[in-house]
Amino acid sequence: MRYRTAVSETIKKVTFVMSPHTTGSCLCKGVVFEVDGKLSPVLACHCSQCAKTSGNFAAMTSCANDNLKILSDETLRWFQSSETVERGFCNRCGGNLFWKQTGSSDIYITAGTLDKPTGLKIAEHIFVASKSDFYDLTDGLPQKDEW
Ligand SMILES: [Zn+2]
Ligand SMILES: [Zn+2]
Repeated sequence: MRYRTAVSETIKKVTFVMSPHTTGSCLCKGVVFEVDGKLSPVLACHCSQCAKTSGNFAAMTSCANDNLKILSDETLRWFQSSETVERGFCNRCGGNLFWKQTGSSDIYITAGTLDKPTGLKIAEHIFVASKSDFYDLTDGLPQKDEW
């Protein structure tokens, strides 16, 4: 019994210490944010819109809207990239930061804007049918033609 109590207290402490808190920004720090709580595994999106806004495929994680706190939005601008999607970017350094769908309770964040270590991994490749021809996918992760 004594041993069990000790173990469960240790687990509680570890859980508390590791309670996820992540920070991030664009390159010029005109946009700075933090996320309290869980981030989803990373989606590598190979659609042509992500290519046009990022210069390559976009690695996106997501969190609940309520868990994202934008600490500086000095240079944050939103671009409506389709009828139901807006993309947040920095209008000074050009950093591609956010992707959100109208009415969704989650927001996507480009994983490269998070400060390291992120503790995240790419889970799958999406919109692979739209990907450009200058790179190959060789990591063995699942690939979807769309999403
Ligand atoms: Zn910036
Ligand atoms: Zn995309």
